[in-house]
Parts: sequence; structure tokens; C-alpha cells
Amino acid sequence: MAFMCASGKHRRPGRVKRTTAQAAGIAALTTTGVIGTVSAAPALAAENSVEQTGLTPVITLSDSVVEQIDAQAATQKAAAERKAAEEAARKKAAEQAKKEHEAKVRAARAAERKRLNTFVAPISDSYVSTGYKTGGSLWSSGAHTGIDFHAASGTVVHAVGTGTVVSTGWGGAYGNEIVIKMADGMYTQYGHLSSIGVSVGQKVTPGQQIGLSGATGNTTGPHLHFEARTTPDYGSDIDPVAYLRKHGVNV
Ligand SMILES: [Zn+2]
Repeated sequence: MAFMCASGKHRRPGRVKRTTAQAAGIAALTTTGVIGTVSAAPALAAENSVEQTGLTPVITLSDSVVEQIDAQAATQKAAAERKAAEEAARKKAAEQAKKEHEAKVRAARAAERKRLNTFVAPISDSYVSTGYKTGGSLWSSGAHTGIDFHAASGTVVHAVGTGTVVSTGWGGAYGNEIVIKMADGMYTQYGHLSSIGVSVGQKVTPGQQIGLSGATGNTTGPHLHFEARTTPDYGSDIDPVAYLRKHGVNV
């Protein structure tokens, strides 16, 4: 008994020590284990939560549901593709419309440029009744400095081309006259007018009405006297028929 008691007395602290030592060892392992567990936590936690909450049956989808989802996804994809195709078609159509519009604008500008560069006869549907340089006592220079267009009094007189009015009013033998500086730097003059419809500084375009024909000044009857000049002044005349023809007018 004494042995038992003695050994019991001796062994008890030993057991305690061993137990403490083992416990310390377990604690050390546990500490290591915890670190390891932390890094693996998401997978474990997810697995655990599934098992614990009983969500597994919900997540495990039946084949028909999967098919439905696949079909829905396919439908959505097709719809997205259709929308993209429609958007592309819309963009293409818009670009085409823009191109067509730009072409129209260019064509309109070209037509306007052409119009502004194209001359017309000063009197529509008329003819030259007296030619350039025709001799006669009627003209102070001894020869006709322009051409006469047959026109009854009050016939519309047109600017032959684009230009700016540089003078209007009484021109002596020319009666009421208008002088226009043309876009090409030359001048045109319109005489014997019964009425003047433009003023100095005014821009005119081909065919624009500038006045009415008449018989004012030194004339035997109503007609339009027309001159082409290198300056605004009398005496700088050039062949008006050649000038008009150069600009496409058939006279
Ligand atoms: Zn004349």
C-alpha cells in the first residue's frame, strides 16, 4: 500500500506534468491548425453551410430547369444579337443618309456655283436688232458701242451675270442706265431704260430683274442698249456678243 501510496504520490505530479505537456503540445498543434484552417476557410465554410442549412436540394437543379435556363439564355443572346444587328443596320442607314445628304448639298452648291457663273441674255426671247460697231449718225463716236436688243417698252431687263451695281441714273444719250461690275472684272451697261430697279452697291445674280426697257435718251424707239466694257466708263467697250458667247449665252 505504501508503494501504491508512494508511487501514487510520485506519479501523480508526473501524470499532471505529462498531461500539461500533452495539453501544451495539442495547444501548439491547434494553433498551427487554426492558421491552416483560416486559409481553407471559404471552401469549408461553404460546404458546411450547405450541409447545415439544407440548401443542397435547391442548388442541385433538375434537368428541365437547367434546360429552361439554357433556353432563356439562348433567347436573351439571340435578342441581344438581334438588337446589335438592328443597331448596326440603323447606323449604316444613318451613315448612308448622311452621305446622300452631303452629296445633295455638294450637288446643290455645284448647281448654285454653275448658276452664278452662267450668263443669260439681258432680254429673254429677243434678238440683236443693231450689231456692235454698226456705223451711223446716231452715235457720237461714229459707231455703235454696244448692241441693241429688240424689246417693247416695259420689258424686263436681266442682269446677264453675277455682279455688283456700280452706277445707276441718267446717262445722257443712254437715257436711264445701269452699270454693273461683273464677277470676272468686266462691266456691263444697260441703257434707254424706262425704269431702274437696283441701286449702287447691290449684288445681282444671273437673270435677276434690274429694270424695265424703254426709249429714254438718244433713241429712235424702245429697245435695250447693252454694252460690255473693261471699265465702268464710256469708251472702254468690247464686243458684247463675243463677251456673252464666251459666257455661254447664245446671241
Ligand atoms: Zn444701242
